[in-house]
Order: sequence, then C-alpha cells, then structure tokens
Amino acid sequence: MPRILLVEDNELNRDMLSRRLRRHGFEVRVAADGWQSLELVSAWRPDLVLMDMNLPGISGCEATRRLKRDPTTRSIPVIALTAHAFPEDEALARAAGCDGFDTKPIELPRLLRRIRDLLPPAGPPPDGPAPA
Ligand code: MN
Repeated sequence: MPRILLVEDNELNRDMLSRRLRRHGFEVRVAADGWQSLELVSAWRPDLVLMDMNLPGISGCEATRRLKRDPTTRSIPVIALTAHAFPEDEALARAAGCDGFDTKPIELPRLLRRIRDLLPPAGPPPDGPAPA
C-alpha cells in the first residue's frame, strides 16, 4: 500500500483529506507542522509527501528545501498544497524543490492523478532476481 505523509495544520482539512486518501487505498500518516513533517519523513519514509505550504514553525517551502537537501530523502516526491493559485506561488514551491503542485480546495480526482503521476511504479519485490 503506497504511503503518504499529509502535512496540514488545519485539523478539519487534515482529518477529511486523510480519510478520503485512506478510502482510496493509501496508508496515511499526518503531520501538523513543518518540523513534525521532517521527523516523520525520516522515521517513516513515506512514498510521497503532500505538503501544505502555509504552516506554523517552518513553512512548507522550507521543510521541502530541507528534505531535498538531504540525500536520504531527496528522492521522495513532494506535492505542494496551497490555497493560492497564483503562478508565483507555484514558482516558489517549485524553486523549493516541490515535484508537484495543487490548489485548495482539494478536488480529489485531480489530486489523485497528481499523486499517481509521481508515485514510483510498483516494481518487483526488492529481493527478486537481478535483471540479466
Ligand atoms: Mn496551512
């Protein structure tokens, strides 16, 4: 089951989106601020991070910058979530290293498409035979 870390400080949004993602077959953990997101990425190694940009503590941009600076976490795709739909918001998120971008209010089918586009394909088991 693909593992998603949802970083969102708004409790209502966090609960609702995590429930909907679980219903679509994802294993979901949540973080409520930027620091917590860094701890959970290191400890849990999600397959993908949904990162609210506007967070208490360190911002989603800063948390993403740190994840992308760390060679052990930089390959984990990050999708930025923001309430703003201005091109400069997306540019800031991309500059921080975000791999994808989506706007709130969340349209689930659209978000699911973006998630699936960025998830690594389900490959053979890690201890399977080496390719010839
Ligand atoms: Mn927020």
